[in-house]
Amino acid sequence: MLKIGITGNIGSGKTTVSKVFEVLGIPVFYADDAAKRVMVEDAILMDGIKATFGRESYFNDGTLNRKFIASIVFNDEEQLAKLNSLVHPAVFRAFDEWAAQVKNAPYIMKEAALLFESDSYKMCDRSIIVTAPLELRIKRVMQRDGFTREEILSRDARQFSEEKKIELADFVIRNDDTELVIPQILALHERFLSFVNGH
Ligand code: ATP
Repeated sequence: MLKIGITGNIGSGKTTVSKVFEVLGIPVFYADDAAKRVMVEDAILMDGIKATFGRESYFNDGTLNRKFIASIVFNDEEQLAKLNSLVHPAVFRAFDEWAAQVKNAPYIMKEAALLFESDSYKMCDRSIIVTAPLELRIKRVMQRDGFTREEILSRDARQFSEEKKIELADFVIRNDDTELVIPQILALHERFLSFVNGH
């Protein structure tokens, strides 16, 4: 099955674009949602987190002690990298399980904010980056989440730059209000379909 990874920096519109692919009948796996789910569902990951950060990582009822984990990884690159090295393989496992259940789709997609940072793109056949200028992304996220400019900038700084992602990606969708987005999506969809059909 052809696997397409789709990413983009904060506020680029990768989720919005992925929803359009879903409308076209393409199943999309949302890795960032899955990352939250596996924290309380994947036994290997949960054991790994407890062994690395301590039993206090989870409450007795099995729910995640988010404050405790956040206090450990906040502003500590090394601890954050440790957490990611546990979470990413669990998300890969969840994706493989999900992909095995998908039937009758010409291709599937994986939407992930950290597609390139997590090496997840290496497990995809092709990759797309959704781009938009920083100021527009800031405006969108301020409207959507009510975050401050500083919060958005600090989140953006934790991701690879757009330039670097454009270099790594196979395709670019510009979601910057200068070019219509739907035709760009349809063109890529057609391209993937003909790829699958061997043309
Ligand atoms: P994040 O990484 O923060 O989750 P994202 O890349 O998934 O962001 P979206 O959630 O798809 O981005 O879009 C960010 C916000 O901008 C949303 O509120 C969305 O509705 C809006 N948005 C996205 N694209 C457009 C567009 N072309 N025109 C107007 N609003 C848009």
